[in-house]
This record gives sequence, C-alpha cells and structure tokens, in this order.
Amino acid sequence: MMKLYLSFLFFLVLLSTKADGQRCLSDTMHTVISKPTKEVETRNPLLQLPVVVHLVLPQSVIIEDQQVYNQINALNRDFRRHNSNLNTLPLTLQALAADTKIEFCLANIDPDGIPGIGITRTTTSIENIGIYNSLFSANDGGKSPWPSHQYLNIWVCEMPEDILGYASSPKEAGDATDGVVINYRYFGTLGAHTPFQMGRTLVHELGHYFGLAHPWGTFHDECEEDDGISDTFPQSGPHNECPPREYKMCDDANPSYSNYMDYTPDCCLAMFTKQQAAIMRQNIYEYRAQLLQNPAICHELQDDIPISLYPNPATSLCVISWPEEEKIEHIEFYDIAGKKISQTSLHQQSSQIEICLDPFPKGLLLLRLVTDDNKYYIHRLYHH
Ligand SMILES: [Zn+2]
Repeated sequence: MMKLYLSFLFFLVLLSTKADGQRCLSDTMHTVISKPTKEVETRNPLLQLPVVVHLVLPQSVIIEDQQVYNQINALNRDFRRHNSNLNTLPLTLQALAADTKIEFCLANIDPDGIPGIGITRTTTSIENIGIYNSLFSANDGGKSPWPSHQYLNIWVCEMPEDILGYASSPKEAGDATDGVVINYRYFGTLGAHTPFQMGRTLVHELGHYFGLAHPWGTFHDECEEDDGISDTFPQSGPHNECPPREYKMCDDANPSYSNYMDYTPDCCLAMFTKQQAAIMRQNIYEYRAQLLQNPAICHELQDDIPISLYPNPATSLCVISWPEEEKIEHIEFYDIAGKKISQTSLHQQSSQIEICLDPFPKGLLLLRLVTDDNKYYIHRLYHH
C-alpha cells in the first residue's frame, strides 16, 4: 500500500518536476511543519546528533568512507556557519546568518552496542531504490533503519538523476522511514556531480528533517504563501541558477538566493537565518530529543584522532602509537561484523605497542582504544 502510495506520489512529482524543476521531494512526500517559533532560546547549548549513513547502492557504484567523512564535515561547516562563501553575501544577509549550534557525527555504537564507524553498506539490485519504500527494509532489498528516535538515519542510494533527495518531517520522528534519503550522485564533496558538489543537498534536506519549509512554501503560487519564518524573504518560487538570471523575490528590496532551503546550486548557498535556526532547535527539543540522549556518543572523525597506525594496510606487524597524554588502558579488536576478536591490556605507561596480526582474519579490523577514564577512540586497520 505504502509502496503504491510512494510510487503514485513519485509519478505526480515527475510530472511536476518536468513543469517547474522540482528537485527535492520533501514537501511532496511529507508534511513540512515550519512554524513561527515562540522565542529564541536564551541558553544555546551545542546539540550533537549521532548519524548512521546507510550506503544502499548498485554493485557498480562505490562510495568510500572518506566521502562520508567529507559529507559530515560539510554539514558541520554549514550548520556551524564556518562556510567561507558567507563573506561574499551583502552585509544585511550576513547579519541574519545563524550558527545553528547543531553538529553531526557518525555514531560509534550500533543499536546492539557494538562499536563501529556509523556506516552500513548494502548492495542492491533494485534500480532507483530511493523512490520505493523497499529502501527502508532489509527484507525487500534495502536497509532497515537503526532506531530512528535514537539515530539520524541517512540513506544514500540511486534515484533518477533529477531528484536530489527528500526527508521526513519532525512529526514523523521514530517512524520506520524517518530520516533523509540522498541521491548518491550529490552526496559528499569529492566527486559529487556538479553543480551540487559541496554536500549541501544534505544540508537542505536536514533543514526539512528539522521542520523547515522551502522559502516559497509548498506551492509555487506567486507570493500567496511562504515558509512561516519571520526573517527569510518571501519568494514566489525556487532559484535554480547560481547566480539566478531571474529573481523570484516577492520584495525586490531584498534579493536573496543563498538560503540553504532554496534550490540554488551549492556554491551559491550560504546560510540559515537566525529564526530558521531557532525553529530547527525547537523542533529537536520537541520531537527529536531522544537523539540527544543516545548513548552512542559521537566518535571523532579520522582526521582528528590522535592515533597512528603504521603501516596501514598491514600484512603482519602493525605499530600503534598515541600521544603520551592519552592514557590508553587497553585495545579491543573487532572484525567487520562487529565480533570481538581479542583484547590487549597495557599495564605500564606507554604510548606505543606492536601488534602481530597473524592470528587475525584478513580484511577490515576495527580497533577500539580505551583510556583509563573510559574515553575511547575507534580506528580502522586493513589487514591483508
Ligand atoms: Zn526541499
């Protein structure tokens, strides 16, 4: 029933895609609930959300872990207002731009408590699986979500080229299809297809996931509707070029095509407004608060981990070293299925250990280095 529903919607969307260049299906497939915020928070703590990225791809498409890291970094760049292109906007717009204080990280523990890197891989033979509900079900050739009240599920998959992605709304929090779906062509920053090659398709879709609407509202209706947000500028429809040849502003005094919720190509997108940030945060507290309580704390991205493995890949011997101030107490080894293979205790103060890999299975190993105050780092070692 649901599959038919989605297919029917998709058919409608394809018709409208042809008509007006719609590239995001969020407000067609889900209810978007932008609403005026009661008040901007006075306390503004950092909200960190654990992410799992499900790569559900045809055999011919490969997305490396590094591309996932690039995408997460791009999210944090834009949600934390670290994007350098903000400086190219008029000062009036720059003054409205928000640091949302929302951050994303790959979950370091799966729902069964097994350490990992927050990335799953599924090979599927279903063409354009992203437009069918089978995407959300392992029994139907896709990948079932991790509990969606606890994890932000992101599915990266094949969809028709002119559809970039879609997201569920906060009111669907915890549902079996709750999360974000992204066309693999526009995921990450290295090798993604132009002009959506800066990771901003996911930034846009996460805006929907946190309850934001497009600046023109749901329909392109010549300024009769908007997104319900006080500090975005009313638009009659999306901008599809960077910079646009024709502005779609309802008020010519404020030309703006750089809001992440517009359709503008990535290099022209630069900001969420302060009210958009306030609404996203309010919706996290109201609908998605359990994401903030997930014990799967975020692990540092590989670039930030002060652990060195040499050589990596390794055939027989690997030297693991870490800064002296990191008091590593023991190291656990897991295979790719998450099964613990072995554990090595470190009895004396040291900052280096040699590990003989001969007894370990070939392939990817996960190392979990646990400190004396129960902090830990996860690193990957390729054994071949
Ligand atoms: Zn959208």
